[in-house]
Amino acid sequence: MKPYVLPDLGYDYSALEPHYSARMLELHHDKHHKAYVDGVNATLDKLTVARETDDLTTIVGLEKTLAFNLSGHVLHTMLWKNLSPDGGDRPTDDLAAAIDEHFGSFDAFRKQLSSSAATVQGSGWGALTWEPLGERLFIEQIYDHQGNVGQGGAPLLVIDAWEHAYYLQYENRRPDYVDAIWNVIDWTDVAARFALARGLVLSPR
Ligand code: MN
Repeated sequence: MKPYVLPDLGYDYSALEPHYSARMLELHHDKHHKAYVDGVNATLDKLTVARETDDLTTIVGLEKTLAFNLSGHVLHTMLWKNLSPDGGDRPTDDLAAAIDEHFGSFDAFRKQLSSSAATVQGSGWGALTWEPLGERLFIEQIYDHQGNVGQGGAPLLVIDAWEHAYYLQYENRRPDYVDAIWNVIDWTDVAARFALARGLVLSPR
């Protein structure tokens, strides 16, 4: 099986300036994201050893570490695609209509997602997700990378609210960082994820 790998950003470190500084993006991608990739691979190796030696005494810690690192890798991989130097503005077509239906208006949606990201206690994320059982858009306030999450949902748009995501440029002003990130959201990417997510089912028909 192939190990997990750190994906390329797809744009230059400076591409999201002035909203997201080049140095902060470089550290975020090359150091922080990479640590989660390395973490998930190392944890999978430890699980292999645990099976081969028939010693599952460390399973609780390994499963928790696996969830943390895998989810960190998944969310950061999505984050880089959710952002674009050509981003900003607001969604159109099906996604715009769904946001209006499920949140009342784009402005109400933006306010709730911004608030969810900006008020995370400790480290976490704000996320727009598709919940396939009820066929609803949700906003989730994720703790670390994997907590406070409704099972079965598919994230469509994620806002990183960890200190490493903003402190170098925005210092303690997390709400200012969250406001700025809306200028570089790639709604084409979010809409493509929405179209795929609506095909998800939780049980065979
Ligand atoms: Mn991060």
